[in-house]
Amino acid sequence: MRTSDALIIRTVDFSETSRIVTAFTQQYGKIEALAKGGLRLKSPFEASLDMLAVNSVTYIPKRSDALDLLTESKLLHRFSISPFNLAGSFAGHYVAELVNAFTQTDDAQPALYDLALNVLKCLEEGTFVMRTLVRFEGNLLHLTGYFPSLRRCVDCNAAVERTAERRIMFALMHSGVLCPHCAAGQSHTVSIRADSLNTLERLIDPRDKDGHWKKTPISRNVSGEIRSLLNRYISHCLGYRPKLYDWFRLIAELDNA
Ligand SMILES: [Zn+2]
Repeated sequence: MRTSDALIIRTVDFSETSRIVTAFTQQYGKIEALAKGGLRLKSPFEASLDMLAVNSVTYIPKRSDALDLLTESKLLHRFSISPFNLAGSFAGHYVAELVNAFTQTDDAQPALYDLALNVLKCLEEGTFVMRTLVRFEGNLLHLTGYFPSLRRCVDCNAAVERTAERRIMFALMHSGVLCPHCAAGQSHTVSIRADSLNTLERLIDPRDKDGHWKKTPISRNVSGEIRSLLNRYISHCLGYRPKLYDWFRLIAELDNA
């Protein structure tokens, strides 16, 4: 029997009364557990098994490839992302989708757990939503070992110059930028302007603790290029396109920053 704090990142109703939940636990990483009777009003789960709820869960780990069995779940915190904060709400589901996609079951990642909870807290406010997501993605890629090389050519290790207006080639297969010499003839590349790449780095700078990332002016073109690079790179890493990308246009329109 194990007990840990956990964020609910996916739910599937399994029968009229039971629910399968994917929970990202602080201590043990991601688990997939069956909550028998989880949809009954009077259950040991007290209606805690909704998306993005933070609970103290107790479960019996699976043997072989069956599901874990959830025996208890107590609600610790529900993020108050109001129905009027649609951008924050969709963004919260995207955070859950990426955490689920970039983790394996039973692989503890406490730093990623803290990151997810901090991001959801930011999203409650419903401001700077798109920037918050970019920052989250940068952090997530760092923590999961997928962060691309943005300064040095992934082929020959030469520094890739960023003179204004210049377009830089990013190789999806090799996870990073290419120098002009190595870029010739490469496929699966995304081209991005040097100033868009500079802005991306400012947005995800881990040393920025003072919120400069909220103040950096970003033109529509630049944010479009950053989004396009991240969408394609993350889809490439996962081998599929995250579902929530369908809502990004709406999130961007509703976002007030
Ligand atoms: Zn090169």
